[in-house]
Amino acid sequence: MSEVMQIGGVDLRRLAQKVGTPFLIYDETKVEQKLQAFRHHFVHPEFETQVVYAGKAFLCGKIVRMVHEAGCGLDVVSGGELAVALHAGMPAGHIVMHGNNKTPQELTAALEAGVGLIVLDNVQECRALAELAQRLQRHVNVLLRINPGVEAHTHEYIVTAHIDSKFGVSAADTKGWEAILKTVEASPWLHFRGLHAHIGSQIFEPQAFEAEIEALGALSKEMQEKGYSVGVWDLGGGFAARYTEEDAPIPVEQVCKTILNACCAQKAALSLDVQKVMIEPGRSIVGEAGTTVYTVGWFKSTPGKEYLFVDGGMADNIRPALYQAKYDCTAVDAPNTPADHTYTVAGKCCESGDILIEQAHLPEMKTGDLLAVHTTGAYCYSMSSNYNHLGRVPVVFAKDGRAELVIRRETAQDFVRLECQEALE
Ligand SMILES: *Cc1c(COP(=O)(O)O)cnc(C)c1O
Repeated sequence: MSEVMQIGGVDLRRLAQKVGTPFLIYDETKVEQKLQAFRHHFVHPEFETQVVYAGKAFLCGKIVRMVHEAGCGLDVVSGGELAVALHAGMPAGHIVMHGNNKTPQELTAALEAGVGLIVLDNVQECRALAELAQRLQRHVNVLLRINPGVEAHTHEYIVTAHIDSKFGVSAADTKGWEAILKTVEASPWLHFRGLHAHIGSQIFEPQAFEAEIEALGALSKEMQEKGYSVGVWDLGGGFAARYTEEDAPIPVEQVCKTILNACCAQKAALSLDVQKVMIEPGRSIVGEAGTTVYTVGWFKSTPGKEYLFVDGGMADNIRPALYQAKYDCTAVDAPNTPADHTYTVAGKCCESGDILIEQAHLPEMKTGDLLAVHTTGAYCYSMSSNYNHLGRVPVVFAKDGRAELVIRRETAQDFVRLECQEALE
C-alpha cells in the first residue's frame, strides 16, 4: 500500500477535499531555504551585497512578507506590483522599480512611495522622471538598464554587438547612454548610482554571468573615464530551476561565488568604483517550491496518444503552450507505484495547444485520481488568465503539517463583480 503524497507535512488528498482542485501549493520551507541560501552565499568582503526577489515570478502578500523577513529586497515592474508590495508591508526603500514603459502614474507612485531604486530604461522615461521628481520635490536613486550584448537562454549564451532588445540601452550605444546620464546629472532630484542588466532566464551556464560582468566592467570603465561613477552593479536574475531530471541548475553557493569573484576580478583589473553588487532571482526562489494539484477527468485514446484530461490547464500554467516548457508529475494517491503507463496530460481549455505534459510517465490512472505537477511555483500563477472563465486557482502554503490558504479561488462571483453598465458619454 503506497502512501498519499504530502507537501510540507500536509496530505494532498485531504487538502483537495478542503479547497477543491486545481490548487497551487507551496512548500514554505523550500522557499525559506532558497531565500536563506542566496542571502548566506551572496556575500563578499569587497562589496556590499543585496538579494532582491523578482516579484513577477509569483507575488502576493505572503511571499512579500517572507522575502522581507529573509532580509531581501523586492523587484516590481508595475504600479500593481508596487501596490501589493507596499500593502504587504515591504519598506519602500527595499523596492526596486523596473519596466521598459513605466507610465507617468507608475513613476509618480514610485516617487511618492519613495522606492529605493528606479531602473531607467530610456531617455524619454528619464526626462519624464526628472520632471515628475521636480514637481513632487522628491529625490530618487536611479540605475541605468544596459543591454550588455550578452543573451543567455537555458544551455546557451551568445555575445552579440547588436541585439534589438526592447529593454535598456545598448552598451555600445555611447550617445544613447550619455544622453541619459546627462539628463540625470542635470536634475538635482535624480541620483545616478550604477548599472543594471538582466541577460535571460533559466540560465545553466555560469560563464554567461561572467560574460555579463565583463561587459559591465568595460562599460563602467568607459563611464568612469567620462566622469560618471558607477557604484552599483545590479546583475539581474535568470538562475535556473529544476523542472525535470534533465535540468541541473548551478547550486546557489557556486553561482554566487562565480558572480562575486568575477565582479571582484573586474573591479581590480580596471580600478572600478563598484561598491555594491545586487542580484534579482525570481524563478529560482519559488519555482521548485510550487506544485499544482489537479483532478483527473476523462480519458481519450487516439491512434498516437493516450490523453488524460485534468481540471485546469493553460489558464493556470501557460508555460508549456507558450514556450514548450517541460514538467514532471506524480500520481498523488500512488507516488511509489511504478510508472508503467504513458499519458499526454491535457487541460480543459479550448485550444489544441493546451497540453501540460506531452509524455507523462505514471502508473495506471483513473477518473477522480489526483495528479501533482511539480515546479509550478514560478510564472504560473503570475501568468494565469481568465481564459474560459475557469477561475484562478487558490494558493496554499504548507509547513510542518500546517496549511494556510493565502489566495482564495476565483469564482463566478468574482467575474461578475467587475461587470457594470455605466454610461461614460
Ligand atoms: C524577470 C526578471 C528577473 C527574474 O528573472 P528569473 O529568471 O525569474 O530569475 C530579474 N530581473 C529582471 C529585470 C527581470 O526582468
